[in-house]
Order: sequence, then structure tokens, then C-alpha cells
Amino acid sequence: MKFSEMPYERIDFDAAKEELSSIIKAFQEAGTPQEQMEVHRRYYKLMGRIKTQATLAEIRHSIDTTDPFYEEEKTYYDQEMPAFSNQEVQYKKLLFASPYRKELELVIGGPAFKNIELAAKSVSEAVIPLMQEENALVTEYEKLLAGAKIDWKGKLLNLSMMTPYLNHEDREIRKKAAAKVNAFYEGIADQLDELYDKLVKNRTAQAKKLGFETYTDLGYCRMNRNSYGRKEVEQFRDQIKKDWVPFAEKMWENRRKRLGLDTLYHMDEGLSFPEGSPKPTGTPEEILKSGQKMYEELSPETREFFDFMMEGDLFDVFARPYKQVGGYMTYLPDYHAPFIFANFNGTAGDVDVVTHECGHAFQGYISGKDPVMEHSDITMETAETHSMSMEFFTNPWMEQFFGSRAGDFLKSQLEDAVVFIPYGSMVDEFQHIVYDHPEMTSAERKDIWKKLEKQYKPHLTYEEESSFYAEGGFWQRQHHIYSLPFTNLTNAFGWKKQYYIDYVIAQTNAFQYKIWMQKDYRAAWKSYLAFCEASASDFFTCMLKDAGLDSPFEPGIIRRIAAELEEIYNQMETDYL
Ligand code: ZN
Repeated sequence: MKFSEMPYERIDFDAAKEELSSIIKAFQEAGTPQEQMEVHRRYYKLMGRIKTQATLAEIRHSIDTTDPFYEEEKTYYDQEMPAFSNQEVQYKKLLFASPYRKELELVIGGPAFKNIELAAKSVSEAVIPLMQEENALVTEYEKLLAGAKIDWKGKLLNLSMMTPYLNHEDREIRKKAAAKVNAFYEGIADQLDELYDKLVKNRTAQAKKLGFETYTDLGYCRMNRNSYGRKEVEQFRDQIKKDWVPFAEKMWENRRKRLGLDTLYHMDEGLSFPEGSPKPTGTPEEILKSGQKMYEELSPETREFFDFMMEGDLFDVFARPYKQVGGYMTYLPDYHAPFIFANFNGTAGDVDVVTHECGHAFQGYISGKDPVMEHSDITMETAETHSMSMEFFTNPWMEQFFGSRAGDFLKSQLEDAVVFIPYGSMVDEFQHIVYDHPEMTSAERKDIWKKLEKQYKPHLTYEEESSFYAEGGFWQRQHHIYSLPFTNLTNAFGWKKQYYIDYVIAQTNAFQYKIWMQKDYRAAWKSYLAFCEASASDFFTCMLKDAGLDSPFEPGIIRRIAAELEEIYNQMETDYL
């Protein structure tokens, strides 16, 4: 069915609540595991219908924000869903306490039950006022940054409009842009400090009210981290410091040489080639067409997936007036249909939609055939493994998108991924320290950041134009640290999530596939496919094992990945330099 033909009907929440009450009653009365599972399937059906209709409204609102009908529908779900979700929690509690739990677990899987336990610990009516205050503080921060009006040659630009100048081929332009942005942050430094201090204290108060020692512990629950904890993450970061940072530093050094610079300053880090970053050669329509050809050739499964997406008009990727900005991938359960929304703008980001977002969508399509709804509750390191690995599985087709600069693209893709790992780990360690010591002053926090920069990015040197960053303030421009530390920003439908160390863990998995596909592409693909099919049926660490991947938490793994990846990288150097 085509997306435009999918019928929309507003969910009547009174009726839905009644249906859920009747499911709750039937569940309590069911006398055998089979009967309870039968009732549980009624719950799947109800939830599938609600999610499908609410998502239809949301997509249709985002593809034309001037359509008053879907705007009102979207508001309707935002208002009605919280009360319905409360009733859903009641049902989940019953499921958790079922006398047939063992039998049910065999069908639904262990993670589903663990997740109910974690969710029960991390929410309570008692913290709602604090959460409201937290939201208001976050909004204030976002407004502060969104309000940037930087005078650039007589035009007033916001921060994201400054990005092309911050990464410009001409160093003088980069320098000027850096100075302007620095002046903006210096002008709001006190407000940034004050807001963050309030956020740390607010989040700590939430944690204490819920019986946790620190906000970090609460964060782990809210992220559904059901198979690894603080200790594992700490050991992972230690491996990164010891075995990955030296590798990442080589990437920076290569970049410095390639750019012909004596010193690679912070303002130079975003530029991978003296002539600028590779851009796709085709029109937006051609990019999508190349994507189709690529997935046709990659495997029978990806061909089937892409045909399904094209036949259903499930891509809305061309920029148009009145479309929302940005991009997302979502899912319509009743049609087993992923949906991809984007705004192609002629940069490499367009190709990311066809590789990264399609990785998410492909997994959604594959696992959509699984009748157990809980198996789609994927934790973030798993979801990003799907998408980041697809970025590498599609490497052999990059000439179709970047023409003669395909080699440059592959090299910068690998370098960017390698150098992200120390940065992402640094953000994670910073947040652990901050929430372990909520009493720290703003100056102390900045000192911690400076210390971490020395460990994770030893080469880092700020030009004098960036005094705000040089004094340990860089993290204050990282939205996650203010807006979403260890938190799933969950909208009314339970999607749209943000995260940090999860990206780093996923990237190390994607690298394992990159190494594997270099040796045996088909075997790596087979494992990837099985990993996608497994979805969230088992715990992350167990699924890695089943897929033949090493757990990044095991000692020595990071060193091995770095060594093998370096070989691949060096090969690229000779191929493309
Ligand atoms: Zn992603």
C-alpha cells in the first residue's frame, strides 16, 4: 500500500482505555500460560493500531507543517498519550508479576521483563514537578543557543548557518568564523554556567527521590541498559584511553599533513581535505536512484526492502517548502512499514540518509515480520550498530555517489569515525564525574573537561580566537550534555531517542564488521543479517556473541580492532594519496 493511501482515523482514547481494561481483566482471569499469551496478543493489536495512527498523524504533520488538520491531530496525541501510558504501566506490572512468567519469558524474551523492572524504578509521580522544571531549563538552554544572531558580512546567521564557514577551505575565513562564535559563547557564559548548575542539581534531586545514589544510576535505568553497567563502561573507556587514543592521534596527524599545516588547531579539525569535503555529484533524485541500484546489488534482502520502500512511497527525502527541518526514521507497525523523512541539501549528509538511516529502516523492515512486539524495543547501542554498520556495508558503491572523490569520502568517513570514539567517551566520562559530584562549581567542571581533553585528545590546541573553548568551555555547546544526559527523550509514542556512549559502543561493532567484510564480505553480511533479525529478542551482549562479534567490554578487544583497522586505513592511504 502507498503511504498516501494509508487511511487515517483518530484513535478514540476512551474506547482504547476500555479495551485495555478488558485486556487487563482477561489477563488476570487467564488460567494457563497459553491463555495469557492469547490475551497478550490482543494488547499487541491495540498498541499496533494506536502507534500506527499516531505515527501517521506525526509524519503527515512533518511533511506539511501548514496543514491544520494533522497539526491538531498531533497535539491531540501529545495530550492524550500520557494518561493512556499510565494505564499501560498497570498492564505491564501484571505481566511482570504473572504466575506464568517463566513460560511467557520463553516467548517474549528476558530483556522485556528486565525492561519493565528498570522502568518501574525510574518513574514516579513524585518526580513529575522536577521533570517539568528540568524541561523548562532545557528549553531555556536551547532557546539561548537558537537565539544566536552572528553578524557575518552584514547578515545575521544562527549557529548552524555558521558551520560552513567554521569548516571553510580558506583558513582566514575559518579563523574569523571561530572568533565570532567564540564571542557569542563568551557573551552568554554566565547564563550557560547557571543553567547547567541548576540542571545538575535538579537531576540529582530526581535520582535521590527515586532512591538512587546518583543521577547516573538513574540514567542507566532510563536508558534500559539491561545487560551492562557502570563497571563495564568504565573498563571500556579505559581501553579507549590506552589503546584507541594513539590510533586516533595518527588520524589527526595525517589530517594535519594533508592540509599542509604546521599546527592543527581546533578550527582545522573539521576539514578533511585542502580542497574541501567530498560532495555527492548527482541531483537528489539521482542519489535516491543510486541508492536503489546499490541495494539491488548488495543482497536479495536489501533489494526486497528497497523495492518495498519505493513502491510504498516510504521515502520523503526531497526538500520542499513547509517541511519540518532535519530527518528521522520511524515505523508504522500495522503495515510493517519503515518511513524515512529527510531534507536533501547537496551535502554528504544526503548519502548518510541512504546508508545510515536506511540501515535503521532495513532492520525495521526485517524485524517487522517478528510477531513479538517487545522484540522491537531495541536499546540504542544495538540500533546504532544496525545503522553504522550499513554505512560500511555500502562502501563498495560510493563511486556512484561521489564520482572521482569516492576515495576521499571513504577515507574521511573512516577518519571521522575513528576520532569520534575518544570524543564520545570523553563526553561520557565527563558526565559520570559531574553527576558523581553535583556540588562542583562551574570552574571545577571546566577544569575537569580540560583534564579530560588532555587524555582523550592530546594533540588538541585551541587558536587564540577560541578563548571560551580553551578555558574548558567546549562541552557547553554539546546539546546532549544539557538536554539529554543518559536520557531517552521520549515523545508520546516512545520513540526519538538520544544517547552518547551508545554511539561509541555501536561504532566499535561497526568497525568489527568493516574488518570482517574486508576478509569475507558475504560472511560478515550473513552475521549482520542475523543480528538485525535478532532485534531485541535477547540481551545485547548475548546477541553479539551469537553474531560472532566480540563484546567491546572484553579486555584486549579495542587494541585488536585498532590494529586491524589501521592496516585497512594504511592501505587506503596508498590507494588514494
Ligand atoms: Zn542512527
